[in-house]
Amino acid sequence: MVRYQDVLAWIKGLQAVFTENRQYLTELDAAIGDADHGINMDRGFSRVAQALEETVSGDVGMILKTVATVLIRTVGGAAGPLYGTFFLRAADACAGKKALEAADIVGMMQAGLDGVMQRGKAAPNDKTMVDALSPGVQRMKQLLAEGAGLQEMLEQGAAAAQQGMKDTIPLQARKGRASYLGERSIGHQDPGATSSYLLLEAMAGFFGNTCQERIGTNSKHVP
Ligand code: ADP
Ligand code: MG
Repeated sequence: MVRYQDVLAWIKGLQAVFTENRQYLTELDAAIGDADHGINMDRGFSRVAQALEETVSGDVGMILKTVATVLIRTVGGAAGPLYGTFFLRAADACAGKKALEAADIVGMMQAGLDGVMQRGKAAPNDKTMVDALSPGVQRMKQLLAEGAGLQEMLEQGAAAAQQGMKDTIPLQARKGRASYLGERSIGHQDPGATSSYLLLEAMAGFFGNTCQERIGTNSKHVP
């Protein structure tokens, strides 16, 4: 089970993830966009971390709602409203929950993905963040149905998102700024798919590791 504190650690951890990847994401966006995706994500999650310092709540839904409102307010461009919608729908799916089971995590991610697809009107293979989120959620859903453990589910979900991200390279963009380039968008990895993969990778790290740590701590012989 993933506790409220683990969700908080994931979201706060995203600040470091997007600071570290600021230049990488911006370079990707320079090739097929306007070179601001890394700047947008870094600013957004820095503000989110600040806002969460002041938030006292034991409710996962409340945390995710704060993330959504801060992202909508501080991240410009396409990604702000899209990730804002992702976290708003994810928040609704977790309303009132103090901890998350594997099925809650899948429900939360599916709700977020559905929100992005509705808001952005993007389908798979349009070369957007949907191309990382969708295979990630699909894989997690599949592993949940197979009765896999939480950590395996999260790791494989992140791996599927990473593959989806790489698979955007040969695609021609059909949505967003990159679509203006037509065929010239082919051959470049989508920045939004990359940030979505990073979100899932961080989730697997924070949720999976905290589970491991707890198991480790419990089984450790304390003299
Ligand atoms: P902008 O394109 O306005 O500069 P960003 O650079 O922050 O915004 O984000 C660009 C990313 O947003 C793209 O790489 C793509 O993944 C995603 N994106 C753009 N439009 C859409 C859309 N309609 N649906 C889903 N994702 C989209
Ligand atoms: Mg951009």
